[in-house]
Amino acid sequence: MTWDAQVGVVGLGAAGSAALWRAAARGASVVGFEQHEPGHPHGSSHGHSRLFRTALVEGPQYVDLVRHAHGLWRELERASGRDLLTLTGGLFVGRPDGAMLTATLDVVRAHDLPHELLDAAQVRARFPQHAVDDDVVGLLDPGTGVLRPEAAIVAAVEEARRLGARVRSHERVVAVEPEGGGVVVHSDGPDGGRSWRVRRLVVAAGAWADRLLPALTVPHEVRRVLLTWFAPRPGQDAAHRPERFPAFVHEADGRLAWGAPAFEGRGVKVGLHDAPVPLVDDPSSNPIEAAPEEWREVAAWVAHRLPGLDPAAVTAEGCMYTRTPDEAFSIGEPAAYPGVVLAAACSGHGFKHASAVGDAVAALALDEAPLVDLGAFSPDRFGPRATGVGATLAR
Ligand SMILES: Cc1cc2nc3c(=O)[nH]c(=O)nc-3n(C[C@H](O)[C@H](O)[C@H](O)COP(=O)(O)OP(=O)(O)OC[C@H]3O[C@@H](n4cnc5c(N)ncnc54)[C@H](O)[C@@H]3O)c2cc1C
Repeated sequence: MTWDAQVGVVGLGAAGSAALWRAAARGASVVGFEQHEPGHPHGSSHGHSRLFRTALVEGPQYVDLVRHAHGLWRELERASGRDLLTLTGGLFVGRPDGAMLTATLDVVRAHDLPHELLDAAQVRARFPQHAVDDDVVGLLDPGTGVLRPEAAIVAAVEEARRLGARVRSHERVVAVEPEGGGVVVHSDGPDGGRSWRVRRLVVAAGAWADRLLPALTVPHEVRRVLLTWFAPRPGQDAAHRPERFPAFVHEADGRLAWGAPAFEGRGVKVGLHDAPVPLVDDPSSNPIEAAPEEWREVAAWVAHRLPGLDPAAVTAEGCMYTRTPDEAFSIGEPAAYPGVVLAAACSGHGFKHASAVGDAVAALALDEAPLVDLGAFSPDRFGPRATGVGATLAR
């Protein structure tokens, strides 16, 4: 059997660009397909910043992954000469018995991660930008920071290219067929349709994964989520820059808010992780433009909790979360698709891990053992496909 490449990668977003880079770094022949230009704003990886956290509210199963990811982001910075990850420190504010702080403390204690605990008065004294309740505590994590998502994707693709990878931009994969011990990939690009034979195929198609692989058993739910930036009020600029205003997660008013400091000409980014948001029927039709009614709730939260920001001075862009019922990723070899390795459903917290996820799926595609345990992320962990995907998810 002759192959066009040992490894094909569909989707060069966060996970796919990293998979392309890590497969090329292992000396494999590799080809990547991206329906847009890598670094584009039409998927789940645009908007200038993503939080990187080692104090992981999501649970201890992510700690090895994020440690590995941290090393790889630094390696990609060295290889590309770009600044990709800036550690700003992270402030986690909530009631000590609240879900977010309990889970985060469990993780930092179990893994002996460096951290500092502050009471409400200390939070107010050191971070007066936050309006906090009397019964909260603050956890400071020096390992938190901000990643530059577009730059990271472009750097990974460039580095993969330098190592010999072929990159097919503006080329959409329209069908995937296991065949003859490999996978046939049918694509449609500027030069027309073409078929490629690859030994293994990594599918990292984000919100589009189920369209390409409709027999996946893991329920994926795609929702529209906004990226929103708020301008500091007059005289408040310096107080919201990274040196004085760490990235944060703040549980208050029944919402889990997260944010990144103002940097490189953008305002303070604030989002509500758990606000009700609409389902996306077709990821290709999710607009980047957003309407004021979409950011009303986050603006109200900002008005109450971040008084140095102007809740009316908003810049907003539409984005997408792809979630599973347990909010864990879908990574591994789905039983329904021999030859395919899936890297999907990063459930709103995947960017920080993407370099390690890419490395893990590149290893699987080359029949190597991944460096981190992927057991919690099996794409077949829910058993036979549930009916009514949307109905299985609480939000
Ligand atoms: C508002 C918001 C805030 C977030 N904040 C954080 C955060 O602070 N920290 C964090 O770690 N994570 C965060 N996330 C999550 C993180 O950004 C995502 O988990 C991650 O970017 C998803 O990467 P992906 O590779 O799965 O998808 P994408 O990056 O969207 O990549 C999928 C790619 O596949 C391409 N594609 C799809 N189908 C095809 C096809 N058939 N042929 C060719 N190409 C195809 C798409 O064009 C796209 O480029 C956030 C997400 C959102 C929406």
